[in-house]
Amino acid sequence: MTDTCPVCGEPAGVLTGLGPRVSLNEADVAGLITLFDDDALVPRCDANSCRLPVQPMITMAVAGPPAGAWMVPGSVMAGEWEAFLAGVRADAPGLAVRTVPSVGDLRVLVTRLLGPRVALLRKALAAGDRRAFVAENVAELTPAVFAAGAFALTGPGFGLDLPARTRDRPTAELLGDLQAGVWWLIALFWLRASGDLRLDDLLHRFADDTVVLPGALDALNAHIGEPGDETRWVVPYSLEALRATVCLAAGQPNPERQRWSDLYFGFELARRGGGWDPGSSLHHQGVSDERAAATIGLHAAWITVGERIRALQDEGSPELTVTVQRLDEICGQAGHPKLVAALLGEN
Ligand SMILES: [Zn+2]
Repeated sequence: MTDTCPVCGEPAGVLTGLGPRVSLNEADVAGLITLFDDDALVPRCDANSCRLPVQPMITMAVAGPPAGAWMVPGSVMAGEWEAFLAGVRADAPGLAVRTVPSVGDLRVLVTRLLGPRVALLRKALAAGDRRAFVAENVAELTPAVFAAGAFALTGPGFGLDLPARTRDRPTAELLGDLQAGVWWLIALFWLRASGDLRLDDLLHRFADDTVVLPGALDALNAHIGEPGDETRWVVPYSLEALRATVCLAAGQPNPERQRWSDLYFGFELARRGGGWDPGSSLHHQGVSDERAAATIGLHAAWITVGERIRALQDEGSPELTVTVQRLDEICGQAGHPKLVAALLGEN
């Protein structure tokens, strides 16, 4: 295949190698919209966006089980498809790789995948008591289901459409409420469940990288309510970890970022300072370092740590040295390794 555009004659790098590629996954709403849009799937030349007369290779990642990839061969690599596929299988031996002959066939497969998820949301919308519905079906109400819902709201056809309005309210808003209800429940779920459920795992499964439906963040804020005088740290800690995670997924600033930072450092200090029994399951309920680094900004951490150190200095506490050491360690795991040194240098 030549690497110049047949329409304008300019270089068209997209025609080299494997040719144009489209990579999707089942929780990627924009990708799903592209898959069902003939025009969006037409590859374009780099220089002038001319429509190129080739088929892109399309890869759809499926979470499974079994985890897999559905692949529509691209026309540029036609002769090398089998060799390419063998390479993919060798690189990921556990992955169920399946060749799908055409875009139309892939759409049918995706429709079958999304159908039960949209059906579940239809049931939720029809439920008289949506809160009870969430409690009974929370394990099924994953980000992939809400992505299917967001896609269904765009009216893709294939029996997947959701109505724009349900009982005089925009369906998108009702689904946003539902999503917020799921989040709220999972953030507190581990408190009531015995066993190995961990807050961070639940946040990962239900809130990381999720599509955030219209109104879901507002609904979550309403669910959480005003910070109360809750004395147990676990409830506010869990809810603020959740809010910080969802704000990150939504690309929105966290209105309670300072509170989250204060709770995070409070938890980590208590964990190191014998705040509860060494054998307590609470030890394992802190969020991961990655989540802390992604959700606690330098400014909020600066204020939290600065106030802690200043308070200990003001009261001439014998705990100052050990606490500063611990704060330094915690700042490091939250992605701000130089913060304590900077603060002390300034004092
Ligand atoms: Zn062109």
